[in-house]
Amino acid sequence: QEGILGSVKGLFHRDYEEKQAVSQMDLSVRGGEFVGLIGPNGAGKTTLVKMLTGIIAPTSGEISVLGYYPNKLENDFKRQYAVVMGQKSQLFFELTAEDTLHLFRQIYGLSDKEYRYNRDYFVELFGVKELMDVQVRTLSLGERMKMELIVALLHNPKILFLDEPTIGLDAVAGRQVRKFLKEVNEEKGTTILLTSHYMEDIKSLCSRCVVVNHGSKIYDGATEELFDRYQKNKRITLTF
Ligand code: ATP
Repeated sequence: QEGILGSVKGLFHRDYEEKQAVSQMDLSVRGGEFVGLIGPNGAGKTTLVKMLTGIIAPTSGEISVLGYYPNKLENDFKRQYAVVMGQKSQLFFELTAEDTLHLFRQIYGLSDKEYRYNRDYFVELFGVKELMDVQVRTLSLGERMKMELIVALLHNPKILFLDEPTIGLDAVAGRQVRKFLKEVNEEKGTTILLTSHYMEDIKSLCSRCVVVNHGSKIYDGATEELFDRYQKNKRITLTF
């Protein structure tokens, strides 16, 4: 399956000046997986996502995503992944939702057929049809996150990176976003790597999770087992 649907592999580390933000991270994600990345504030989760998506380069080591080196930002790579940073919008607030989708169609260079198919699929899935004429600026946080996700998924990426996608959302919007992400992973086979502070996100979506603390991996395995151990207070101490 590896390389067909999406994979991440690498052993790498990243410093910010003197400080080691991610140390000797050995990470491997198979195509079709939905992996959760958790850890306390400052653990290195965002730094990890930034390296995996080419925003920053590792200080040493090598990362391969779908067989590409992310920080080279080759066009072929750009067409196959997407990233949504919960605290940083990719949307233009002056545009309507419909015009936003048109704009990203051009950015991705989608054919008429591809565009219509994908737009209709995701607009229907996320239930945002009635928002198409609305200016992005006036959308609620939950509606805006749905648009962020549609924009990210419009070109059918093989792998989707999500950094805190439910941050700031109310319970209903959070639940909806989780439901859509589950469906995208199951129906489209999209590989998803998600960071979150919310246990609910990880428990309900990710069969596997990676716990990071002080830039190092302290757990990598079944989510259920992690929560079992946590409840029994064995071996792993989590402070959130
Ligand atoms: P949070 O959950 O708060 O977003 P995180 O797990 O995503 O935290 P990172 O943002 O990756 O953690 O930060 C890891 C470490 O690197 C922290 O100690 C942080 O202070 C440091 N750091 C992050 N970005 C920079 C930067 N641009 N310059 C210097 N240090 C940084």
